[in-house]
Amino acid sequence: MKERILLVEDTKFFGEFICRNITQKMNYEVDWAKSMEEAMTFIAQHQSNYIIALLDLGLPDAPNGEIVPYCIENNIPSIVFTGSYDTDKRRLMLSHGIIDYVMKDSAISLDYVVKLVDRLTRNTHITALIAGSDRSMQRAVADSLELMQMQCVVVDSVEEGKRWVENKENLGLIVLMDEMKDGDGFELLKEIRLSPKNKYIPVLTLQSEVNRIGNRNIKYGANDYIDFPFRHTDFFTRVNTIMQMQDQLKQLDYMAQHDFLTGLYNRRAFFERAKGLFAQARRKQITVKIAAFDIDHFKSVNDTYGHDVGDRAIKALSDCLLENSRETDLIARFGGEEFCALYTDMDDGYMVSYFEELRKKVSELELEIEGEEFPLKFTISIGVNTHFIEDISEMINHADNALYASKENGRNQVTYHSEDP
Ligand SMILES: [Mg+2]
Repeated sequence: MKERILLVEDTKFFGEFICRNITQKMNYEVDWAKSMEEAMTFIAQHQSNYIIALLDLGLPDAPNGEIVPYCIENNIPSIVFTGSYDTDKRRLMLSHGIIDYVMKDSAISLDYVVKLVDRLTRNTHITALIAGSDRSMQRAVADSLELMQMQCVVVDSVEEGKRWVENKENLGLIVLMDEMKDGDGFELLKEIRLSPKNKYIPVLTLQSEVNRIGNRNIKYGANDYIDFPFRHTDFFTRVNTIMQMQDQLKQLDYMAQHDFLTGLYNRRAFFERAKGLFAQARRKQITVKIAAFDIDHFKSVNDTYGHDVGDRAIKALSDCLLENSRETDLIARFGGEEFCALYTDMDDGYMVSYFEELRKKVSELELEIEGEEFPLKFTISIGVNTHFIEDISEMINHADNALYASKENGRNQVTYHSEDP
């Protein structure tokens, strides 16, 4: 298992910055060598454990980048991090097979190099699909992607490409060529983007001199295109950029659907998902139940102990709801201390014991509070609508009314609504 990063850097400022940032952001050990000699000692000890090396070109005992071929010969993927820009030196270093050549000239490039290490270490878990029948394109793409630490799968037909996209769980990138044995890459691109589950897979297409179809591909969902033949550094930058972009979109999408405090779905996502579950339940003729939950006397918790404690109560309740849910249950925080959940295929006998048990478990939760002798305990009121009707909002209204009845009748209890009045 590769788990170390080698940093060879004789300047204290850069060395400390990189060590600190890498150890804070990633779960890797950094070995910091301040000279070529120290680096050689580290390599003798841990060679096969280095996932990446970050190399300074000017070292006291190796002033001309001698460390670079040494690391490459020892099969350590290397990034050059240097203070002076020199075209010939850059070309020479790239010819040794380094991943990237980064200038040490500003806070932005320091930040870039840390993100790059993060990206590359994550790439080791990523499989990239290379689709196209041109051998020289396949080779060039695979060489670059392997240098970027990805596993590559090469397919030369649309059919095979579809199969991989369908069945492979951790596809992190698709590089698509126009020419395929049984059709063209464009067909595969359309197929990929038709399925919502592939929404965030970055797709880069290659365009040749004779077939300039890059912009058409973008209209159909490719994230970018590049001319072939390409220089590794250009390809590398495009791939990194689209991967980062898709990661960010995925993250934004997650944030738009989830509640920040609890990680549960928010109200909007609940409605979106509930629609699908309703349709499915009707097709399969199974039951749907909706429950509304609310923490009792929540305002007084906030007023007495402050919002931090209120937040902890909300989090404790959401954890309890999750721990006691089945995989098919849909649980959301609607706002404040209000939660809503949808259960499919839950029979009435089980339901009564389930909610009773849940109510009891919540009442036994204990929150330790600094400066207080006794832990905080709280209860919830629950309203459950067991009568399946097509209209989600109306089902929730009935659950809310049942919840209101629980409150009216003294809280810490479950009320059921079973049929339209
Ligand atoms: Mg130096």
